[in-house]
Amino acid sequence: MPDKIAGKCYGTLPDNVTMQFREPMGVIASIVPWNFPFTNSAIKLAPSLACGNTVVFKPSELSPLSALMLAEMAEEVGLPPGVLNIINGIGAEAGNALVRHPGIDKIAFTGRHQTGALMLEAAKVGMKGILMELGGKTPSLVFPDAPLDHVINAAITGIFMNLGQVCVAGSRLLVHQKQHDEVVERLLQKAKNLRQGDPTDASNHLGCIATPSHVNTIETYVEKAKGEGARMLIGGDRLKGTTGCFYRPTIFDGVKPGMTIAREEVFGPVLSVMTFTDEAEAVRIANDCDFGLMANIWTSDGGRALRIARALKAGRIAINGGGALRANVPVYGYKLSGIGAELGFEEAIHEYTNSKAVLYSLSTEKTPWPE
Ligand code: NAD
Repeated sequence: MPDKIAGKCYGTLPDNVTMQFREPMGVIASIVPWNFPFTNSAIKLAPSLACGNTVVFKPSELSPLSALMLAEMAEEVGLPPGVLNIINGIGAEAGNALVRHPGIDKIAFTGRHQTGALMLEAAKVGMKGILMELGGKTPSLVFPDAPLDHVINAAITGIFMNLGQVCVAGSRLLVHQKQHDEVVERLLQKAKNLRQGDPTDASNHLGCIATPSHVNTIETYVEKAKGEGARMLIGGDRLKGTTGCFYRPTIFDGVKPGMTIAREEVFGPVLSVMTFTDEAEAVRIANDCDFGLMANIWTSDGGRALRIARALKAGRIAINGGGALRANVPVYGYKLSGIGAELGFEEAIHEYTNSKAVLYSLSTEKTPWPE
């Protein structure tokens, strides 16, 4: 990418050459969350460096090691000293000091929207640019003509992979009323057979939640869901015979759009099953949420798939599976899910370079002056 970054020449007037240059911004403050720390670091660092910037990078205090290994590799391949700088520390201290530093030209952040709001406050001091990739509450809309075998597997992996500690975890499953009973029964069968235990044992499907305090957060959401009338079908506790963070896959049925469990990001292995009766209701429920990171559509009707893709308020839509990130495809978050683009080519250049217009007069006439 670095040698593909080009400016433009505008043909406006015959006696004027107007050029646009794309220039490095300077120093990017990059701050990432604890989940998928290596991938999230790469996503932030690659375009920042390719656009000619230097970076001060802060990984999460909960998963700092892979960024340090990345820095070692950068040194090994000959990145000049000072181009990539890793600092470790607690968000409220090191992160806060970094984003407020006057030497920073742009903030590139991935994390919770509540932290993002604090960064907006910090950014306004120097009118710094800010790119934010935040949380999600991904709905998966399942229509009666969907390939159910595929849907069930995808719904289970979509919410329980990494125990739901994924920004695009499919936490809301919207099923057509007609298929509700069959879908729920098949989900339960699969969920019961998931093996959970030592995450370093490859025969286990599921490991544990990242920290004890995050288990407490998940427990609070689960208790709230029960209190608000959602029906718990499975899970809701820790794996028997274990202590610590082995929270079990949990499924709620009868979830209504107004319930907290349907609106807030749990960031854990908790699936909410909801029902709809027609397309319009499915779209209404899916969009009735403050997040808009991703959505899944399951149908074999191509027209419906695209109609709904256009109606959903989310920056990434997967139709009949797929939906994995690709370096050349930009992703944006709607609503609380972010500001600006992650990945992409033109979009990355736009995010990580400044634009400079140079207007060059070729005229041989003197500048007019009123006599
Ligand atoms: P977080 O917002 O608590 O922390 C993220 C980073 O910000 C950490 O490095 C932390 O130290 C730092 N930080 C915290 N307070 C700060 C402050 N006041 N000033 C500066 N920096 C501060 O998020 P988390 O719990 O680590 O990560 C989970 C969240 O990240 C979820 O909401 C998840 O959806 C989101 N996420 C989004 C994406 C995406 O691409 N949209 C990807 C992964 C995770």
